[in-house]
Parts: sequence; C-alpha cells; structure tokens
Amino acid sequence: MFEQLAVDRKTAAAIGEAIQSGRLPHALILEGGDEETRLAAAQEIACALVCESSGVKPCGVCPKCRKANAGSHPDLYLIEPEKDGTFIKVDAIRTLKTHAMLRPNDGDKSVFHIREAQMMNVQAQNALLKILEEPAPHVCILLTCPSKASLLETIRSRATAFALSNETATDSADENAPQTAKELLQTLCEGSELDLLTALAPLQKDRALFRSVLFAVRPLLRDALVAGGNTPALTEEADTALLLRRRLTQKQLLDLMDASQDCADALERNANLNLVLTYYCSRCSEIKLS
Ligand SMILES: [Zn+2]
Repeated sequence: MFEQLAVDRKTAAAIGEAIQSGRLPHALILEGGDEETRLAAAQEIACALVCESSGVKPCGVCPKCRKANAGSHPDLYLIEPEKDGTFIKVDAIRTLKTHAMLRPNDGDKSVFHIREAQMMNVQAQNALLKILEEPAPHVCILLTCPSKASLLETIRSRATAFALSNETATDSADENAPQTAKELLQTLCEGSELDLLTALAPLQKDRALFRSVLFAVRPLLRDALVAGGNTPALTEEADTALLLRRRLTQKQLLDLMDASQDCADALERNANLNLVLTYYCSRCSEIKLS
C-alpha cells in the first residue's frame, strides 16, 4: 500500500507496514515534492492512522476514513500559517500541545499535521520540541515542508523523514491495466456492489494503476457499443464486449464511459485516491441499477 505516496516502493511498503502493525514513528517529516503531493501524503497517512478497518489501511470506506477524507474527523488537526508567507507562531503549537494532552475523541490516535512546517518560527519549533521529547502514545505529528533542512536540527533528529517526489511511483501500471479493466467490467456485469468494491480494492494501493485502468475501460465500453456491427473493434476482447452488450443498455455503456472519464480527470487533478475510488464504485453501481 501507499504506493500513491510518491515515494519509492520500498519506502511506501515500509510506511504501510509500520501503519498496519501500529509501529509508525510518532513524528514524521514529509519533505520534497510539491505542495499537493505533500498534502496528499499527509492526508493518506492521517487517514490510515484513524482507519478502523481490520484489513489494509486506509480502507477509504469505513466511517472514520470517510470523516478523515471529508475533513471532519475530530482527531485530525491541521496547523498552518494563518496566511501564506506568515510564520506559524508559538501560540499555535501551544494549542497543539493542549489537544495532544487530551485523549482522542473518536479512536486511539490524534494526528497533527503541521503544513509548511518550515514557517514555524524558532520559538514555535522549540515548543514543538518539548512535545516530541515526551510524546504521548496516541499522538502522531506529521510535518510537511519543501526541505527538512529548514527545520531545527533538534526537530529533525526526533522525527523520521521521508522524501517525496512529484512523480507517483509506478512500474507495471500500464501492463496490468487492460486485464484489470476487463475483470472490473465483468464484475460489474455479473457481481454485486460488494464484488465490485472488492475488485476495485487493489487499485486503492496504486494511483497510477487506477488511472491506467480507467483509460483501459473506455475502449472496452466503446467496443461493446459497436459490437455486432461493422465498426472495427479497438481491443481484442470480443467476449467482454459481447457480455457488456448483452447485460447493459447503450445508455448505461455511455454513462460508464463518462464516469470513467470523470474519475480519470479527478485523478489528474490529484484528487484523493480513495475518494475517487469510492465515487467510481458508487457511480458504476448506480448506472447498473438505472
Ligand atoms: Zn477506513
């Protein structure tokens, strides 16, 4: 999991493993990449820390993940400059400390994301240091910044740093996409909504694969639309095209093409992966029932 974090696969696997086993360090620095990449990474980790799934976290579908992704989880805190270019002052960190001393409201973790952490002034960093020196077991602090070099050495030495890049890690995404797309559409035709959710689950680990699958779904749907006619097919999946044609109306096929395009666009815009996945699943189910 966590391949979408824009870190190398080994690091992604290490973060995922640490979260699954409850051994994630209490302070992380996510440095590098662009602002959006850092936000997405912090969001993904925060979501995983509050997720109540007994399986792979974040599941994206449990009530806690939903709250986290909607920005309404009571134990996720965002600390950031009041305006761009202004410092994060010591008062903000004192407020953080007050919240950190309390038990979480809704689970067993409180997660504090300090965005633009390099904007903490020295006083603020020293106040944070006190918290990092004696962390409460339920507290996790995520610091995002362009470079950890802009933080005090004392902070850096008490946090685990991960370097992000602007590129999402990917290797075999395109190779696997056509097969996954085919299975997805077969499941849509023949399975329940739960089956569909299960079929989509592997994509929650891999933004690049999901995007490629959405692109691979469209020619299959298009071939279904023209199946039985004289128009040449775009794929070699005649059986899938016929199955789709038998099970779905022309309008349903067109709606599915639109839904796939909308979700691919959302991923391009760097929308939250799990949200897009959940949305795609519900759109597909709605279309099937329409
Ligand atoms: Zn969850």
